[in-house]
Amino acid sequence: MPDLRVARTTLSLFGCVEAGGTKFVCGLGTGPDDLQLTHIPTTSPTDTMEKVIGFFREAGSLSAIGVGAFGPVDLRSASPTFGFVTSTPKVDWKDFDLAGTLQRALDVPVGFDTDVNAAAAGEARWGAGRGIPDFLYLTVGTGIGGGALVNGEVIHGLLHPEMGHIRIPHDLKEDPFPGCCPYHFDCLEGLASGPAIQARWGVPASQLAPDHPGWALEARYLAFGLATWVCTLSPQRILIGGGVMQQTRLFPLIRQELLRLLNGYIQVKAILQDIDRYVVPPQLGSRAGVLGAMVLAEHIYRNPSARIGAPLAGADAWR
Ligand code: ADP
Ligand code: ZN
Repeated sequence: MPDLRVARTTLSLFGCVEAGGTKFVCGLGTGPDDLQLTHIPTTSPTDTMEKVIGFFREAGSLSAIGVGAFGPVDLRSASPTFGFVTSTPKVDWKDFDLAGTLQRALDVPVGFDTDVNAAAAGEARWGAGRGIPDFLYLTVGTGIGGGALVNGEVIHGLLHPEMGHIRIPHDLKEDPFPGCCPYHFDCLEGLASGPAIQARWGVPASQLAPDHPGWALEARYLAFGLATWVCTLSPQRILIGGGVMQQTRLFPLIRQELLRLLNGYIQVKAILQDIDRYVVPPQLGSRAGVLGAMVLAEHIYRNPSARIGAPLAGADAWR
């Protein structure tokens, strides 16, 4: 461990926030080896933000803050509601100005993106996406979300990708569970998120027996998603994290299903021969989101003229 007291005199101190539905993970530091974390429960915006702001005020002078947030969020830089959480089912947080609240209270530049885009940025910089300009980061937890790096930049597009809400084949005879997405019922998230596993089988995913047929079904559903993204985004690697993927036995099942679904059509060595290195866990584990938020902070600090949340310029921004 380097002497961080010395390092910090020359490096910028960044604040980072992974804003989640159950907790805000707040970090202070200069990089992965110098990161002090605190967890603040997600209650009302007033209460939660007061604690978050208090944590950063105690730190003294910050160069910038980065936020990776649960969404949907508004990332359109010209929008009057840029930096807001928008249509979330969490009613208290609907239309809440998350980035602006931090910026006004702390008077520092705030970089802002979705939680999964931030995690992808973190993995690109320090994790399993290093040196790979086109990869996909997927999380399978309370929800399912994906962040894609294409040519070294995360995709925003019209809003931002909502990969968990794609449609996948659902054989109601084999799996009569109707799905639990409040918008689409049996979209991917509605069929394969942690809450979907619990609702279908009546036990939390963490307690479903290792030999339960539910795992094969889960792997198949996730592989449907992966096959879609292989054929649309053509990622050079796919990282899958989130609470459900703590069941590491899913990885070989997903790889096998993905190969079966693609059926030899995508003729590349990475898939045909090196699938074990193609579909992998993230390397930053539970710190991917908060470290990704640090990448957002660093980016806005280095590009002060960029409107917060403006598209990141070039692959070098991530490395
Ligand atoms: P969040 O999505 O809220 O950020 P997580 O990624 O930890 O948080 O996802 C929580 C979901 O993951 C819950 O639905 C839970 O059932 C599931 N989960 C957590 N731990 C495990 C585990 N060890 N095995 C299977 N599922 C798990
Ligand atoms: Zn849905």
